Amino acid sequence: MFVFVMDQYGRPGHPTRRMDWVRKQLKRKRGKIVGGGISGKPAVLVLRERSFDRSRTVKRRFYVTLDTGFRNVGYAVTELLEDGTLRVLLKGTLTARTPDIRGLMDERAMYRNSRRYHRRANVKKKGQTAKHRPPRYESRGKQNSVTLKHSIETHRNLYARLARLAPLPVYQVTQGFESVSFDLRALAHGKPRTGSGYQVSPVGKAAGEKTHAFVVRRDGGCVVCGRKEHLHDHHLRKRSKAGSNRAGNRVTLCEDCHADVHAGLIDLPITDGAQWRDASTVNTVCGKLRTGVSI
Ligand SMILES: [Zn+2]
Ligand SMILES: [Zn+2]
Repeated sequence: MFVFVMDQYGRPGHPTRRMDWVRKQLKRKRGKIVGGGISGKPAVLVLRERSFDRSRTVKRRFYVTLDTGFRNVGYAVTELLEDGTLRVLLKGTLTARTPDIRGLMDERAMYRNSRRYHRRANVKKKGQTAKHRPPRYESRGKQNSVTLKHSIETHRNLYARLARLAPLPVYQVTQGFESVSFDLRALAHGKPRTGSGYQVSPVGKAAGEKTHAFVVRRDGGCVVCGRKEHLHDHHLRKRSKAGSNRAGNRVTLCEDCHADVHAGLIDLPITDGAQWRDASTVNTVCGKLRTGVSI
């Protein structure tokens, strides 16, 4: 068990395992314990009449590392020991709300729209003309999606929260995260046979090209049997289930395979283009953390 230590000015010192020393400080009323117990937070010993002398501090190395994720973000605070091993001071998993953000935003928009609708209706009743206000997305410009923004903030806030939870001398702390890079092209549409296959975006068609023509060109024939005649577009997420008509939701199947898929005889490994949203968000979060986080 570890106890984090702070001086009277709130400056963090090195964590200690010397419980006899901690108990002695408490007994002589030289400090008090903040956190710990049933609060779920690690214990911090705040020393009343001490101020740490930086020039005399022993050099120790601490690491605050995040395991990047969409729903679950792991974290660990460790210390690098002289023999090269890591000692874990604190670790856990944060359950983020990132997957729910889109639904929450839609719900909010629904209430907002309803409110505006009634406000306009009320204005009209009084015989005035309702002022037109353009919808927000028209003036918003190019911004990150709310899901992505939330995910980036979750990771950045976690660094800040850990700094408060586990007070450590800032200049001896290194922040890090597990940098991942999912090959979304390979995940969604199989690994291209040649490197140049990556040049054909699974969702981006050439200017003027019909979506059907693009989907056929991208898949190079039926994705199940490889036939190149009597090709159909199959929607991964059904149109009746609000599936989009864009290329990302369409896949090429021959007449026979298409019938088999709908009859439930063939199970397509890909069911919905949106299933890669998680991986895609984590990719971008890693990129943003790489460029944006400083110690
Ligand atoms: Zn179909
Ligand atoms: Zn086929």
